[in-house]
Amino acid sequence: MSKIELPNSIDIKIKATHFEPFINKNAVKYTEKAIKAGVNSWIKPYQKPQLTGHDKNSSPLGRIINCEIIKDKKSSDEPSNYIRLYARITDKDAIEKILDGRFNTVSVGSKSSRVLCSECSQVITEDGLCDHKKGSYNEKGDMIHWVIDQIEYTEDSFVNEPADEYAGIEEVNFGNGWIEYRNFLDNRETHLKEISMEDCMTVQTDAKLSTEARNKLSESVFCGPGRSFPAHDKAHVLAGLKLIGKSKFSDSTKSKIKACLYRKGKRYGVVPSEDELKIDTIENLLTFGVDDEWTTEQRTELETFFKDNPDADLPDANDTQTDSNTVTSDVKIEDMKKPELVILANKLQKEFEDLKKSNLDALTLRDNKITDLTKKLSDSETLALQKEDEISKYLDDHAILSKKLKDSLVFNIIDLKTTDNNNEESKILIEKYSKRSVESLNDTLNDLRNLKIDNKQNTEVKVVLTTSQADNSDKNLNDQKNDGDKFKLFDQDRRSTEE
Ligand SMILES: [Zn+2]
Repeated sequence: MSKIELPNSIDIKIKATHFEPFINKNAVKYTEKAIKAGVNSWIKPYQKPQLTGHDKNSSPLGRIINCEIIKDKKSSDEPSNYIRLYARITDKDAIEKILDGRFNTVSVGSKSSRVLCSECSQVITEDGLCDHKKGSYNEKGDMIHWVIDQIEYTEDSFVNEPADEYAGIEEVNFGNGWIEYRNFLDNRETHLKEISMEDCMTVQTDAKLSTEARNKLSESVFCGPGRSFPAHDKAHVLAGLKLIGKSKFSDSTKSKIKACLYRKGKRYGVVPSEDELKIDTIENLLTFGVDDEWTTEQRTELETFFKDNPDADLPDANDTQTDSNTVTSDVKIEDMKKPELVILANKLQKEFEDLKKSNLDALTLRDNKITDLTKKLSDSETLALQKEDEISKYLDDHAILSKKLKDSLVFNIIDLKTTDNNNEESKILIEKYSKRSVESLNDTLNDLRNLKIDNKQNTEVKVVLTTSQADNSDKNLNDQKNDGDKFKLFDQDRRSTEE
């Protein structure tokens, strides 16, 4: 058991609890009405846990993922009406115990608000116990029992002694479809081999060899020099033979590689055809060149070829799925002989297994994608909330800045307009300008600035004039000192004017 790679999860169908007319070992009967009203509590509002021994503090072994009511099931040795649960078991230990038969019988955990005595119909949940003893017999010889008329389920448990002796695992599914549990336990070894075969198939169908994978293979699995012609599985052996068949390698190279491929391929059922045996005996074909070293010419020949076609000795994706033993489809089944039929049956079986597997792969892929997308969605929701926060912060900042801008525009305008700090006047102006838009305030401010600049320029001109007068007076002073330079200075002035 421990050698087998256990699946990560298995689904089980459980006969969880039988209802009327069935009375269980605890002298309890569930009414159909209670079952119909209560069955959905298995999955709503949440999927109830699969436990062991009704231990509510333990970690669940899995969850109940679906439920249904089965009625009038024709069977001679068990009651006909029951609730069927579908549980997905993900606990490794529990999976092992289910697959080896240790976990099997179950018992449901439930709550009820309406329990009646079968004999006097007293509502025990309201009026307390009557004189009738549950599990005893009345004068007619019928068992006195409790009638459960309302029920809500809390959990399902694997137990060693179930009150409902017919409650237990019905079918198992570890990825290959439903198998009846008893049949599974009877043929456990065969069924478990299927699990390990699945794993082998995974390895085989993954036949395309990456450089990395090729490097990991042992030297002894290659038939050619320089790690060419890998022959570690059927698909690669066939690919090698195919390449040899159409290659232009020298005869000695061809024979040496072909012999090696057949030697290694024998264990995968790859054997020379009759035509090939006509040319060579099987002994020669299989033993050719075993001890011979590769000659320099042969090495160069192969190296040159693989430099241009590095993947030529690997199978195509399509070749890994088709079998060399395929039976041609135009042969009628009626005309087939036994060996052909066996091959056909094997082929169909393999195709069926492949389909089942690819179906399962697709489902796993879909589940992974859903998980992935759910995570991405929740991530982007978080991000969106963060961005929303940022935006609202920016909006706040923007409002504050707008207010500041407007205030400063208003105060600038007032500063430019009023000369003295008359509070009353400022107040009226603030009120007046605060009502106006930023653009109109900007316009007003610009107008006021231009006006001020004009005034300033006027003042500046005056100042310049004054300075030049002063200069002139200086010059006059100089002139007075230096009469001879008078015209020279005048010329200079005039010249500067002309420039
Ligand atoms: Zn009673």
